[in-house]
Amino acid sequence: MIDTHTHLYYQGRLPGELPGIRPEGLVDRMDRWGIDKCVVLPMESPEYTSGYCLTDWVIQAGERYPERIVPFIHIDPRKPRCLGLIEHFAKHPLVRGFGEFVDSLWFDDPLRKRIYAKCGELGLPMVFFGAGSNSVDEVGLPRLETCLKEFPDSIFIGHGPRWWNAISADDDGRCGYPKAPVVEGGAADRLLQEYDNMYADISSGSGYNAITRDPEFTQGFIERNWRKLLFATDYLKPGQDMGHVEWMRDTPMKEEHRAAIAEGNARRILKLD
Ligand SMILES: [Zn+2]
Repeated sequence: MIDTHTHLYYQGRLPGELPGIRPEGLVDRMDRWGIDKCVVLPMESPEYTSGYCLTDWVIQAGERYPERIVPFIHIDPRKPRCLGLIEHFAKHPLVRGFGEFVDSLWFDDPLRKRIYAKCGELGLPMVFFGAGSNSVDEVGLPRLETCLKEFPDSIFIGHGPRWWNAISADDDGRCGYPKAPVVEGGAADRLLQEYDNMYADISSGSGYNAITRDPEFTQGFIERNWRKLLFATDYLKPGQDMGHVEWMRDTPMKEEHRAAIAEGNARRILKLD
């Protein structure tokens, strides 16, 4: 299995906040859970957590465990020389993608759009987050859809409540964790089917909630979108277990679909073979 969404180091810098995970702790967890490779996502934007995880540190972790850790890069969209930094880090042979976006700019902000264009040019899929004050988009994800059209060569990987609550047509926009059965016709389901460059990772409480809140709906959702879904956990604190591994192993689905979601799709879009 390939976990396409994990983190390292300082998510928090105050007592009582998340202590973060060291590379050896991540690899130990992978061994215990039967995970072959983990994508590690740096976080260089000041929003969302009080800590940072620099791209440099993630690349160093990848160099230490080149068979296990797949480094992504992240540069805050407002950073001076943002595109030059992306070009610089993208030259590293282990780097496979960009993210995660955790800034509070709108999805179609020009500062973000220049990154979408650059990552499309460099072949780096991008992971984005959206929730609460980091709202990113509106109900129905119109700003995301504009960018899917404008940047057809750029791969967007949906994650977080803003994205996953759009699985249901009755998304109330509050970015919570709704438990009600899914109403057919949600924007996330439609965008996965209509756009070749739209993917989604099942990580975190939001992804897990979306794929478990209505098991009957999930069967059809997998049938329609199995080539676009990525196994992922958002592992970011020691001892965390949110059920994604069990879901991936135990949920009834065709073995072809399970292999694609657990590993095959990630291998293809991250060019891991
Ligand atoms: Zn994350």
